[in-house]
Amino acid sequence: MTIDLADVARAKGIKYFLISYTDLFGTQRAKLVPAAAIGAMQKTGAGFAGFATWLDMSPADSDMFAKPDPASLIQLPWKPEVGWLAADLWMNDAPVEASPRHALKTQIARAAEQGLTMKTGVECEYFLIQQDGTAIADAADTQAKPCYDQQALMRRYDIITEICDAMLQLGWNPYQNDHEDANGQFEMNWEYDEALVTADRHAFFKFMVKSIAEKHWLRATFMPKPFAHLTGNGCHMHVSLWRGDTNAFVGDGTALSPLGLSFIGGLIHSAPAMAAITNPTVNSYKRINAPRTLSGATWSPNSVTWTGNNRTHMIRVPEGDRFELRLADGSANPYLLPAVALAAGLDGIANDRDPGPRLDINMYTEADKAGDVKKLPLNLLDALRALEACPVLPAALGPVVPAYLKLKHAEWRDYKAHLSEWERVNTLDC
Ligand code: ADP
Ligand code: MG
Ligand code: MG
Ligand code: MG
Ligand code: MG
Repeated sequence: MTIDLADVARAKGIKYFLISYTDLFGTQRAKLVPAAAIGAMQKTGAGFAGFATWLDMSPADSDMFAKPDPASLIQLPWKPEVGWLAADLWMNDAPVEASPRHALKTQIARAAEQGLTMKTGVECEYFLIQQDGTAIADAADTQAKPCYDQQALMRRYDIITEICDAMLQLGWNPYQNDHEDANGQFEMNWEYDEALVTADRHAFFKFMVKSIAEKHWLRATFMPKPFAHLTGNGCHMHVSLWRGDTNAFVGDGTALSPLGLSFIGGLIHSAPAMAAITNPTVNSYKRINAPRTLSGATWSPNSVTWTGNNRTHMIRVPEGDRFELRLADGSANPYLLPAVALAAGLDGIANDRDPGPRLDINMYTEADKAGDVKKLPLNLLDALRALEACPVLPAALGPVVPAYLKLKHAEWRDYKAHLSEWERVNTLDC
C-alpha cells in the first residue's frame, strides 16, 4: 500500500517537504515543496537539471525527476513543520542508474537474490569548528590526548544532546556520545539496521549535525583531515549479513563464519579500488597512510589487512557477529559506501576469496611483521586508477562507476591545477 504523503502532512502537521537526493560527490540536493503540492509531486517527482549537480549529465538533457520514497520520511526534529524525504532519481521514464541510492538498491537486490540482507552501522565522526572553517570552535579544547574528555564534552552539552534527543525521538536507538581523539571532535552512535535504512540515516545525520551546529552559531565538518596534526574524521562501517533472522557471519566464538571470511576476502581483494569510493576526496589521503598525530595514533589504516579486536588494521573483527571496515572517512558517500562494500563482499562469497591470515600485530609499529600485504593508495589518482583497473567492482556496480570516475578525474585535474604554498616554499629556489 502506498503511503499518501498529503495525508501524512495533514496528520503530522507538516507544512513543507524537502525532496532530497545525494549526488555522486555526496552533496545533498533538495526542493522545498509545500504540502499542498505534494500529492502531484509524489507521483511525478520533483524536477531538477541533473547537470547542475554532481551527476554525469549534460545541460542538454531533459529534466530529471526525484521521486520521494515515503518510507524514508523524517520530520526534522529541530523544525517539525518540515518533512525530509530521500528520493530516487528518474529520467526519461527510467531510473538514473548512475546515482548513489540506485546503486545501493541494485547491490541490495543482488544480495536478496541469494537470500542475504546486509545490515550496517556507521560511526560518523565530526569536528565542531568556527564558522570560517579555520579552527576548532572550543579554544579550551587543547589536551594532547583529548579522547573521551569529559569537560570538553560537557561544554558542548547543548548541541550534543539536541542531536541525541532528536535521534531518540526518531527511534534510531542512539546509545552513546563522546569526545573523540582529536581536539574539537565528536562521535555519536546509534543502532545498526538494514543497509538502505542506515544509508538514509547517515545522509540525514550529516544534514542534522550541520543544521543543529549552525543553529548554535558553529559549523560541523565531516572532512577527512581538517587539521594535519590531529586525528581525522573516520566513518567506520560495521557490517553483518543476514539470512532471515540469522546472522550468517556468526561463527565459532569470536571468529567469523566461513561466509564472513569470504566476504572480507572480497573486501581485501578489491580494497585499493574500493578506496576510490570509501575515501573519495583529495583530502582523504591525508587521513590514511598518515604520520602519527598529536594523540599518539591516527586510528586509520595504511595497509590492506584484517585482525581481531585491534584498531590498527583496515578490517577489525571485534566480535564474531560482524566486522568493522575502518577504511572509510567522513567524505564517503552514505549510499556508495555500503554499495561498494556489498559489491566487494558478494564477489568474495561468489569466488570464495581468502582474506589471508588474521594479523594480531600493531600495524603502526610492527608493519614489518605483516608479510606481503597490499598498501592502500597514496592519493586519489592512484585510487581512481585502481578502480578503473579493478576486475571486480566496475562490473559489479555497473554504470555508476564510469560516471563517478569521469567526474572524479575532472576533480583531480582541477586540484592539480592549483598551486600550493608548499610548492612555492620548496621550489622557488630550485
Ligand atoms: P567502535 O567504536 O567500537 O568501533 P561503536 O559502538 O562506535 O563501535 O559503533 C558500532 C556500530 O556497529 C554501531 O552502529 C552498532 O549498532 C553497529 N553494530 C553492532 N552490531 C552490529 C552488527 N551485528 N551488524 C552491523 N552493525 C552492528
Ligand atoms: Mg526553473
Ligand atoms: Mg566508535
Ligand atoms: Mg571513533
Ligand atoms: Mg569504530
